[in-house]
Amino acid sequence: EKKIAVITGGASGIGEATAHRFAEEGARIVILDRDLDGARNVAEALELRGNQAVAVRADVSNKEEVQTAFHEVLSLFGGIDILVNNAGFGPNAPVLEIRGRWWDKVIDTNLKGCFLCSQAVVPTMMEQKSGRIINIASTAALGGVYGTTHYASSKAGVIGLTRALALELAPHNITVNAVAPGTIETAGAKGFIEFYRDILNAEIPLGRVGQPRDIANAVLFFASDEASYVTGQCLFVCGGASFGRP
Ligand code: NAD
Repeated sequence: EKKIAVITGGASGIGEATAHRFAEEGARIVILDRDLDGARNVAEALELRGNQAVAVRADVSNKEEVQTAFHEVLSLFGGIDILVNNAGFGPNAPVLEIRGRWWDKVIDTNLKGCFLCSQAVVPTMMEQKSGRIINIASTAALGGVYGTTHYASSKAGVIGLTRALALELAPHNITVNAVAPGTIETAGAKGFIEFYRDILNAEIPLGRVGQPRDIANAVLFFASDEASYVTGQCLFVCGGASFGRP
């Protein structure tokens, strides 16, 4: 309640669901997204339900835009309690078709974006002597998803970043954890899910693809007082798909 939470990529999917889940607990929410109209729509929906919420535009892979956005947040709220590094995307392509800037774009958004946003909040959290950073990884980090050389690498990097940062920030009472979703029904994954739904449902031990709220609940746990002794962990929220097939 009353905590200030910045959610990157909060204009859609898992980020939007996390914003709503946090709002249910009474948090004040910043939707940080490169899609300003989408971010404004989510912030307005939260305001309508009585929460304080603002939309801020930034591309998480752009250092200057990230710094400007976090300055804006600090001037509006005076602090940041929770950062959810969720902005990301997952294109599929076989290795020889990953050309031009695609490798850089995936790594810059999914991995460097987490780094830049974390770097932007750490001084404030250190000053507050408390903070929570939650990074959205993926089961693809474990490998085994065809055509995801760039994406799987970025998400494995997110888990490495989570562990290293957790160690460094623990003396400052800042926890850093990751949630690794399996296949979750969002705009970003819609086409893939529609095409493979029957196969996916048969291959996921719990028998269904995940919903954004399944991930939001796990993110909320890491942000909660109940998780104050948990850091450097990655929770796989994937209906059991990360450990085997039925
Ligand atoms: P989504 O496409 O529904 O939403 C992603 C949001 O991030 C959008 O609002 C988009 O505008 C924003 N965004 C993208 N690049 C950005 C950038 N450079 N700067 C700022 N904002 C940016 O996607 P989603 O499915 O909700 O995915 C959210 C996160 O979850 C991603 O990191 C994704 O890799 C991860 N994930 C998703 C699934 C899944 O099945 N949906 C599975 C595993 C991991």
